[in-house]
Amino acid sequence: MAAPRILLAEDEEALATLIRYNLQAEGWEVEEASRGDEAELMLRENPPDLLLLDWMLPGLSGIELCRRIRMRRETERLPVIMLTARGEEQDRVRGLATGADDYIVKPFSVPELVARVRALLRRVSPGESRDLLTFGDLELDRVQHRVRRAGRPLHLGPTEFRLLELLLTNPGRVFSREQLLDRVWGRDVYIDERTVDVHVGRLRKALGESARDPIRTVRGTGYSLDETYPA
Ligand code: CA
Repeated sequence: MAAPRILLAEDEEALATLIRYNLQAEGWEVEEASRGDEAELMLRENPPDLLLLDWMLPGLSGIELCRRIRMRRETERLPVIMLTARGEEQDRVRGLATGADDYIVKPFSVPELVARVRALLRRVSPGESRDLLTFGDLELDRVQHRVRRAGRPLHLGPTEFRLLELLLTNPGRVFSREQLLDRVWGRDVYIDERTVDVHVGRLRKALGESARDPIRTVRGTGYSLDETYPA
């Protein structure tokens, strides 16, 4: 698996250098922007796996950039950690309200920053912010709404597509039938939990019954994408 790519948007050069050095020491790829508008362009061209975003940036403020990130479909789920000199509780709430996933107050210790980045990368699955989700020989293109297995196109219904998409964003995570209903069908719809089993059955069939089954049934609980599948 490729190293996580982190975009660091920070205009204090010395601090940016320190952060970059320490993130690279963890084996992560780091790209830098010193302006908010520059970071926005970089996000459009090639969304990273995580964004470290300074609150006060020239060009476009971190708060405004974070708001825009959440409004765009391509980046609505991009993990964002806000960096700021402001420590007031109200600002913290405001930062999180704009859609940041986490918030670090300057001055912070480098190990703390690294720990927060690691925790957030772990919480969101690899590739979640990307248009193309891959897992073993499975490939799901979120933009073109296409699924391939070992390069061969598969034909999935819309519900099966969303089911697979959700499973692919969280390999190994076990989803209960209720969670799958909430996230695939939506909270406001009343559907019997057995409907989930029917659609998982259809998804398995569409994936090709003769090939190895990437979906694991967890008895009494629900379903997950089998982490051992790509091996
Ligand atoms: Ca700044």
